[in-house]
Amino acid sequence: MYFNEEHQALRRTVRKFIDTEINPYMDQWEQTTAPLHELFKKMGDLGLLGIRYEEKYGGMGLDYWFETVFLEELGHIAGMGVSTAICVQTHMATPAIAEFGSEYLKETYLRPAIAGEMVSAIAVTEPDAGSDVAAIKTRARRDGDHYLINGSKLYITNGVQADFLTLLARTSDEPGHHSFGLFVVPTNLPGFSVGKKLDKVGLRSSDTALLHFDDVPVPAQNLIGQEGEGFIMQMKQFQHERFCTLPSAVTMCEDMIKMTMEHLRQRVVFGKPLATRQVLRHRMVDWLTEIEALRHLTYHIVRMKQAGQDATREVSMGKLMAGRLVRNVADGCVQMHGGMGFINETLIARCFRDSRVLSIGAGADEVMSEVIARLSGF
Ligand SMILES: Cc1cc2nc3c(=O)[nH]c(=O)nc-3n(C[C@H](O)[C@H](O)[C@H](O)COP(=O)(O)OP(=O)(O)OC[C@H]3O[C@@H](n4cnc5c(N)ncnc54)[C@H](O)[C@@H]3O)c2cc1C
Repeated sequence: MYFNEEHQALRRTVRKFIDTEINPYMDQWEQTTAPLHELFKKMGDLGLLGIRYEEKYGGMGLDYWFETVFLEELGHIAGMGVSTAICVQTHMATPAIAEFGSEYLKETYLRPAIAGEMVSAIAVTEPDAGSDVAAIKTRARRDGDHYLINGSKLYITNGVQADFLTLLARTSDEPGHHSFGLFVVPTNLPGFSVGKKLDKVGLRSSDTALLHFDDVPVPAQNLIGQEGEGFIMQMKQFQHERFCTLPSAVTMCEDMIKMTMEHLRQRVVFGKPLATRQVLRHRMVDWLTEIEALRHLTYHIVRMKQAGQDATREVSMGKLMAGRLVRNVADGCVQMHGGMGFINETLIARCFRDSRVLSIGAGADEVMSEVIARLSGF
């Protein structure tokens, strides 16, 4: 209904890339972490890291429908670790540079990120501040033509491999939301260190790190937009981060159902294939119905974005729904696989481990509920 031959051509390109350049390596990358420089260069060569970004900086200059096609296809990756790493590059660490960054920042960081020549990460969360972003303590103190960054960032996806971080830091002690700056921080500066690569329950093909900053001298020209406006810019950037989880969640849920139906057809219990049991088929139907609702909330959001409308409330609803649905489907599909669902080597077990984070990262369910409540006037 919404997609023409050009969209389908992009869909085929992304699907082929996933089938040939990602999925055959996923088992290995779950053990070792995906090599992002190598992977992103290949994606950059196909233009896949800059679908909506301006052609001037190497992007494709396409609209939200093309972006949605790309994100839907990412849901076919056999593990959310790699799709998350890709989305950090395309939807979490670079939108603010594209929207508010200077020409210098776009040429120096956005262009190579789109080309896949630099790996990026988004550094907001800290040991003492996750849901409450305004509680961050990492400090950026102006020192001549530099800012000196001090503090720590926790759970930073791509943090071990990143060439630069888009980092939120406090620039003054004034209360309120105008005391922050959003900076592009190259990771080759003195004083930067990776404290630890974290051992996660899921997303094992992606690296997630604790990072330390000890008087890291960041050139003042690496400030995105105006000092004091970092928090507002990051809130806007979060909208891209949250939206990108929706289309891939729809695809991932459909894939989990497909692989589980396959199992139910093969598995004979009490003399009949499990697929003949109405109770199981109906449970699948309940999920399919919810998936269809999520898909069309996603398309509603795309229409709003195309029309230039603020979709914060709807994106928050979608993120809340996606997190709950993907977890629910993964858990139910594991149940239908029986013992096999609990064996690490099965894909459904990986989906189960990976899906858990969707209700935590990019704004936890409770945070989404608060945003929706506020924007609904209660
Ligand atoms: C695998 C992974 C990758 C991540 N990648 C990144 C990244 O790349 N960059 C980055 O900056 N961050 C990243 N994060 C951090 C993530 O965004 C945070 O974990 C998330 O925002 C929650 O913060 P927290 O962990 O500090 O939980 P807390 O803020 O301590 O919250 C704990 C729980 O309490 C709930 N809660 C909080 N406030 C309320 C309230 N008022 N009422 C009711 N319940 C409440 C929360 O919803 C949550 O369930 C990542 C996290 C994970 C696990």
